[in-house]
Amino acid sequence: MTARIIDGKAIAADLRARVAGEVARVKRDHGLLPGLAVVLVGNDPASEVYVRSKHREMQAAGMASFEHKLPADVSQDELLALIGKLNRDPAVHGILVQLPLPKALHAETIINAIDPAKDVDGLHPNNAGRLAGGFTALAPCTPLGCIILSKTVHASLEGMNAIVIGRSNLVGRPLLQLLLNENATVTIAHSRSRDLPRLCAQADLVYAAVGRPEIVRGDWIRPGATVIDVGINRLPAEGGKMRLVGDVAFKEVAEVAGAITPVPGGVGQMTVACLLVNTLRAACAIAGLPKPAV
Ligand code: NAP
Repeated sequence: MTARIIDGKAIAADLRARVAGEVARVKRDHGLLPGLAVVLVGNDPASEVYVRSKHREMQAAGMASFEHKLPADVSQDELLALIGKLNRDPAVHGILVQLPLPKALHAETIINAIDPAKDVDGLHPNNAGRLAGGFTALAPCTPLGCIILSKTVHASLEGMNAIVIGRSNLVGRPLLQLLLNENATVTIAHSRSRDLPRLCAQADLVYAAVGRPEIVRGDWIRPGATVIDVGINRLPAEGGKMRLVGDVAFKEVAEVAGAITPVPGGVGQMTVACLLVNTLRAACAIAGLPKPAV
């Protein structure tokens, strides 16, 4: 069997177009211009690339985008003061502090200072708790993207056996909650789990969010399963370049799975698209408008 490739690029483009349509509608009908503030501390090259692409996509969708670049040695108090200002700014509906932060800053304190209504990364404990309780919440973008990709293969995830490998606050844990909300039966695995191949073999849906290149092998996968690869691992390639590899051994797994996301061109494409969705949702909620149709 050769798996269907889930085209994250095309699915993300479609989602961005739908967000742009809703942005135009809320602007026209309600005079609302959704705005995102991105805070970047230091000059980590990978973070700079992510921030630039967020800025570009926000503008392309017709939203306002505010960039705040701070030096790596900014103090915790200065950063907290900026977040306080953004919390109060009516033009800002979403606040994203690009992670990782320099070691001298306490990331948890910074995230907790963001107004939960503007927490478009879904990392504030209020949102994490609401999501865990099955209530309306801003959920982290990457797991949201995973659910959307899965639903391009299966109209409903109800009753399906899912395994999430990885239990980070950014990906694994919120993905577990989103899958539960979809009525899937979920196993969550991590570095202390025993016999991962056996656990995976029972799953109709496999989500790999580990950060270990090609850890998930072809003979772990149940024939016909849907495999969503969240991992982004940079490995050295010829000519001193880098190549991106997922957490899934793509060639092997594609021989067995029913559907699979590539790396690049899979989940990564969805993360920024879902950030647009969250910013639009936050703007509508803050303005007291109904949830937008995306
Ligand atoms: P993380 O915080 O490092 O978490 C990794 C998780 O994998 C942990 O729960 C860890 O278990 C588990 N793990 C590590 N080794 C394992 C093993 N041998 N077997 C089973 N589980 C193991 O990473 P993350 O932030 O969730 O990111 C995971 C991957 O997704 C990374 O490659 C990252 O670059 C990528 N990512 C991609 C996007 C995107 O937009 N596509 C977004 C975010 C992250 P313990 O909890 O026991 O340590």
